[in-house]
Amino acid sequence: MALVAAPVLALVCSCGPAPSEPALPSETAAAPKPNLLVISIDTLRADRLGCYGYGRPTSPQIDRLAAEACVFDAAQSASSWTLPSMSTLMTGLSASTHRCTQLSSRLDPSQITLAEMLRDNGYDTAIVASHIFITTSFGLQQGYTHVDTSVVQDEQDITSHEVADRGIEWVTEQARALSRPTVQGLAADHRRAPWMLWLHFFDPHAPYLVHPGISEAFGTESDAERYDGEIAYTDLHVGRLLDALRASPDWNNTIIVIVADHGEEFGEHGHHGHGYSLHEECVRVPLIVRVPGLAARRVLEPVPTIDLVPTLLELTGTKWTHELPGLSLVPALSTGQQVPRRALSEVSWQARQDIRCVQAEGWKYFDFHLGEYDAELLFDKADDRAEHGNAFDAQPERGAQLREQLELELGRARRLSGGYRHQRPGALSPAEEARLSQLGYSGDESSGGVPKEKK
Ligand SMILES: [Zn+2]
Repeated sequence: MALVAAPVLALVCSCGPAPSEPALPSETAAAPKPNLLVISIDTLRADRLGCYGYGRPTSPQIDRLAAEACVFDAAQSASSWTLPSMSTLMTGLSASTHRCTQLSSRLDPSQITLAEMLRDNGYDTAIVASHIFITTSFGLQQGYTHVDTSVVQDEQDITSHEVADRGIEWVTEQARALSRPTVQGLAADHRRAPWMLWLHFFDPHAPYLVHPGISEAFGTESDAERYDGEIAYTDLHVGRLLDALRASPDWNNTIIVIVADHGEEFGEHGHHGHGYSLHEECVRVPLIVRVPGLAARRVLEPVPTIDLVPTLLELTGTKWTHELPGLSLVPALSTGQQVPRRALSEVSWQARQDIRCVQAEGWKYFDFHLGEYDAELLFDKADDRAEHGNAFDAQPERGAQLREQLELELGRARRLSGGYRHQRPGALSPAEEARLSQLGYSGDESSGGVPKEKK
């Protein structure tokens, strides 16, 4: 089925030829395409940001953007660790479709990324990776014309300042291109391709480091305190980047997304780190979308992060011809209304770990298999958002309904998977294995699937 999205650029931008300038007929017919800045922040829980109600000042810069954006209150990531979640953010496909679910998985080139589709629509595409999972080994650079992996970290490295610097360089260079001498009859935005820049910030990921001058305000003793300091440090540098864009002529024609790949557990359900479960603290992520010209609003209904790709395709007037399971969030961005959604999350990277969940109709249902432990879990998200009281035994009919919803989502994801080739998980190089081990991905797949607690 071919889907062609109508551009919503009338909402986006009033740029274009000034009335006194002569304009080519083709330029008067269409507004310039908006630029796109995607900021993904690793391991960032939504509930640790001010704009999501946190009481500590971790995020003044992100909050400032959120005040003029659409904030999705209950966005749910596709998994609870980086590779499957980022693969979903970049393809709009569920984990059971792209199958980047093991430590050594690689995105197959037959799967189409947002960057590829935008590139085919005339966009200049760039990415700054700060995580090993976004390097060429794992396939997620597919579709990017400009790739910067110079800030991929060692575990003790602090990189947000460098990622922001790369972004500022990009924004500055793009603005410079706009100010080059005018070609007679050509509007400024038509002298240069529209751009898409994806920046991945890493610092909130463990180990939780101390940032002198920032962390002290949050405390430096506990993991949770130092995690807050890491967020505040990242926020500071995200703010520098946003300030550079605010000062650029591109500000009024740039869509900005802030999102995370997954959250982090601090013992709420017995684990520390991520990749072990799919509870609220692990899969509720910030999703903030700023579209110039659209009013700020808040959308309370849960949305899955697979919806981001079709949303950005529609906003950029980009065509796609393959089936995407997500729905565009443009109605929510425009009016605050969104049709009810089913949000699927999956995690299965460890041996004998197979955990799937779906959030729908105000409930969240888990089909949970871990080692010797098998269970069905059901949580009332209205009364028990933190997911501490399993209501499955008390609500068997509701549980059966939600089980069916999960099966529907998984069935669709697996059917779509058949339309793609898949690379077999291969061997990691010793260097990759060492780096992943430093990041807490222990690779102890022979341990019977019992989560290894991260220190
Ligand atoms: Zn991550």
